[in-house]
Amino acid sequence: MGNLDPQGQPVMPKGGQRPLPSALHATSRAVFPRAINGRFRRLKWGLMGLCLAIYYITPWLRWHRGPFSPDQAVLIDLAHRRFYMFAIEIWPQEFYFVAGLLIMAGIGLFLVTSAVGRAWCGYACPQTVWTDLFQQIDRWFDGDRNAQFRLARAPWTAGKIARRLAKWSVYLLVSFATGGAWILYFADARALFHDFFTGQAAPIAYSTVAVLTATTLWLGGFMREQVCIYMCPWPRIQSAMLDEKSLIVTYKDWRGEPRGKSAAKLSDKPAGDCVDCGLCAAVCPTGIDIREGPQIGCITCALCIDACDSVMVKTGRPRGLIDYATLEDSEKERQGQPPTPHIKLIWHARTLIYLGLWSAIGAALLFALGTRQHLAISVAKDRNPPFMLMSDGSVRNAYLVKWRNMEDRPRPMVLRLSGVPGATMWAEDMAKGDATTQLARTIPADQTEPLRIYVVAPAGTSEQNLDFTLTATDPEGGSVHYTARFDAPEGGQ
Ligand code: SF4
Ligand code: SF4
Repeated sequence: MGNLDPQGQPVMPKGGQRPLPSALHATSRAVFPRAINGRFRRLKWGLMGLCLAIYYITPWLRWHRGPFSPDQAVLIDLAHRRFYMFAIEIWPQEFYFVAGLLIMAGIGLFLVTSAVGRAWCGYACPQTVWTDLFQQIDRWFDGDRNAQFRLARAPWTAGKIARRLAKWSVYLLVSFATGGAWILYFADARALFHDFFTGQAAPIAYSTVAVLTATTLWLGGFMREQVCIYMCPWPRIQSAMLDEKSLIVTYKDWRGEPRGKSAAKLSDKPAGDCVDCGLCAAVCPTGIDIREGPQIGCITCALCIDACDSVMVKTGRPRGLIDYATLEDSEKERQGQPPTPHIKLIWHARTLIYLGLWSAIGAALLFALGTRQHLAISVAKDRNPPFMLMSDGSVRNAYLVKWRNMEDRPRPMVLRLSGVPGATMWAEDMAKGDATTQLARTIPADQTEPLRIYVVAPAGTSEQNLDFTLTATDPEGGSVHYTARFDAPEGGQ
């Protein structure tokens, strides 16, 4: 190490080049957050319990869909290309519903960020939820912050090894449960659970659980706040989205400084409200000190608000030295004006635009869901050859027509042909002599039935469009159309 300047940078020697720093990045410090009680901590416990309960319990919920469909409430059935979510069943060609939900999730994140800053990071992000869980396991085994410090620095005695092994075993169990729950969303949970533990599940199930167990253990158990600070792109995106109207966790330096008694003695100003106890930094799960100003490492979990409020109560000062505030409002408060109530801060123009967009997409999806037909047709025309000339001069085209019944019961359906004068059709399972303009079939529940169909038109028919209409003939009814091409010799010759 050479000489350092006051900022800790290597000093440039006269006439020479600045020496390279000895390391490309600072060594990360282990974070041992202290336990704290308060209203935001209780909110975090509640949301953490809710998120974990939703994740672990959902695959076990049942939803009766009749005898022809699975009864798992939420199921991503890749083998049969279906997505079930309670009463909703999404087919592959309806993927726009899933795309719409993903767009809503994205806009929802923007909406939350615009209204309440990085609340997603602080309360509901899986990395936050699992890190919080692992930190609580640390407290169960090692005690609170100071005890964890002492144990981390203590030599590796038999007692420390035993305690570490016990704790890491619980880490592993939680990670395994996390990876194990994930695969239950992709197959019948009860059957897969049984097959998994009797060695009969598919290899992909074991490898998926192994990968997810390892990543949960690594990211939640050991990397923790480093994922938020160094690996996740979302804090950078959110930082770009925050403006002077966004709610962030703020230390009110105009009220807190000069901090501590000794700082006040050196200053000509009276002592501020901050007693420099360091509790706000001690409880921070990412190990930062919010008194240094807004930082990318702040996930706005608000635990430092709980910590500082408890100190303010003990010292007889008003709470809110650290609080949610916008930069705009902080400036007003600094000048002695009263702060704007939080509820008013949430509803600004950008939030309302996001809310309008989010609601419009949601309403459109609900409308599409409520009015969608539970039958569908798709047609693929033979391209080689595009047509066949029969010995009597008539023209024949061939099509693969897929009849789709999206109900959980068999449905009678009729396929009608129109648009080409004199044209008739027959299916591969019929005699040509029985050619007609409408075919009837009963399509099994939740099935797509492909049927090869030949359409023949009289001699002299020219190239034009033809229409297939598929109609359900049960009381529920419904009808869908498909316009296909009918090829013929040029000029009908
Ligand atoms: S500074 Fe406060 S709000 Fe930000 S992460 Fe730390 S404890 Fe949470
Ligand atoms: S908890 Fe409050 S009083 Fe204590 S150091 Fe932090 S800001 Fe100052």
